Amino acid sequence: MNHTQEDIRHNWTKEELLAIYNKPLLSLVFEAAGVHRRWHNPEEVQLSTLLSVKTGGCPEDCSYCGQAARYHTDIEVQALLPTETVVAHAKRARDGGSTRFCMAAAWREVRDNRDFDRIIEMVKQVNGLGLEVCCALGMLTESQAQRLQQAGLYAYNHNLDTSEEYYDEIISTRTFDNRIKTIAHVRDAGITVCSGGIIGLGESRADRIGMLCTLASMEKHPESVPINALARVKGTPLENNPKVDIWDMVRMIATARIAMPASMVRLSAGRLEMDEVEQAWCFMAGANSIFTGEREKLLVTPNPAISDDLDMLSRLGLKPMGKTW
Ligand code: SF4
Repeated sequence: MNHTQEDIRHNWTKEELLAIYNKPLLSLVFEAAGVHRRWHNPEEVQLSTLLSVKTGGCPEDCSYCGQAARYHTDIEVQALLPTETVVAHAKRARDGGSTRFCMAAAWREVRDNRDFDRIIEMVKQVNGLGLEVCCALGMLTESQAQRLQQAGLYAYNHNLDTSEEYYDEIISTRTFDNRIKTIAHVRDAGITVCSGGIIGLGESRADRIGMLCTLASMEKHPESVPINALARVKGTPLENNPKVDIWDMVRMIATARIAMPASMVRLSAGRLEMDEVEQAWCFMAGANSIFTGEREKLLVTPNPAISDDLDMLSRLGLKPMGKTW
């Protein structure tokens, strides 16, 4: 691994990133694979487990999401899980080889109430298991971010989803600027940032690049950048969108890898619709993190089980990564 922090750029232009995204595919993958090798051990893949600790009934209108209360989906609403249940899931994830445990709640924002007190307790207990603890709870204030940090939260997931220009087409109940503010609160509290987006929402190439450019222009790049392919949930406004082309995923991952070389680039939602060869291309393009799960769900859409993932990694000559801290 041959690099210095000074090699990280924060002044990418959209034109530069679009030119990278549009390179001939094999040249793009070759370049991204080179960057990946300079910054990371290319044989290691981080395994993260995601648990929905509160499911459905969300007041937001994200048009890709089956948990929005206003859409008629098959998702079962589930109140905040008991702490013991969450900790038992976290133990199983750790014993299965995960090093990161992410707890997601379908909230618009965190409220300073008893549910937040319970989340704080979950963070403390999961942290005590030696796992990197991550939460995705919606918008946060500065003081809430500080409370989470003091409880031992390692990372906070808050995706940009798409470009600033396309944002209103996908979500009307909050603004792009709201997202940026929460990410700033997380950063200021000393929690690492997990932020990426989704392709397949009907966005243009310019929107994909716009989103990556916002992330890559941050004073400090997000430590994790999830790249999701739309999981088309029945009952949501985007249920009939076309399936994301695998080469679009590979291009997004490769461009994210080149623009944010030190970050973990996570192959996230939509992985179940990819076969092993397609996933191998994503790893070659610089993805080095996946969500895996005992419940075989990524939040509310299907995801491969951890044993299947371990078999796949072994066939590809890859191995689970240890903790990143
Ligand atoms: S993505 Fe999150 S905020 Fe948006 S509707 Fe789904 S649960 Fe709510």
